[in-house]
Amino acid sequence: MPNCDFGTPCTCKECRTNIRNEICPSCGFDNVIEIEGAGEIKTDRKGIRYADITYPTGNPQNLDCFKCGHSIINVEFYTRISIPECKANMKRDAIKESSKPCDDCNVNIQNSLGTYKEIKLFEHKGNFLCKECLAKRIKTENPDPSDQNKKFTFNNNDLKWVLSKVRVKCKSCGKPRWLMPENSWKNQCLPCFKKA
Ligand SMILES: [Zn+2]
Ligand SMILES: [Zn+2]
Ligand SMILES: [Zn+2]
Ligand SMILES: [Zn+2]
Repeated sequence: MPNCDFGTPCTCKECRTNIRNEICPSCGFDNVIEIEGAGEIKTDRKGIRYADITYPTGNPQNLDCFKCGHSIINVEFYTRISIPECKANMKRDAIKESSKPCDDCNVNIQNSLGTYKEIKLFEHKGNFLCKECLAKRIKTENPDPSDQNKKFTFNNNDLKWVLSKVRVKCKSCGKPRWLMPENSWKNQCLPCFKKA
């Protein structure tokens, strides 16, 4: 496990490498390229350890676009093309081109834990909506049923209003209080219950 996982100065390959993007002028693809530096752990005058990283410099190079192969000329010096990042961008573009977007927010892709996925759409009254937009629609179509003795909150997962609090009068003193629905059987308030 590299040191960077513990928050200490680190010169592992990942910590020494910077990434940069180079858009292909021919196809518009977002090429990701890496520049790998050299690192050394040093100690400053106060005795604090730090990673001293220097990046190589060199003449501009050509870069073959990962997607279309077009030769992009005179790109600022780099070490290599990042194949995993470029593959991820290819996948992202393919999803963007092929999938249907949500009718309300127009989004058709999501990034979950670093991987791109097509957004899941739900049919609702002739529209195709993402989960968030579907929840918003259902929430506005079904007004909050709360009244002076019942409070509801909207559950975005179940897509419905759920009873969250009930107002119940204490059997002994008559004072109303708000209770969780599962506690609504408690017919006395705490002070009255203690007195009894
Ligand atoms: Zn590291
Ligand atoms: Zn290209
Ligand atoms: Zn949406
Ligand atoms: Zn009471």
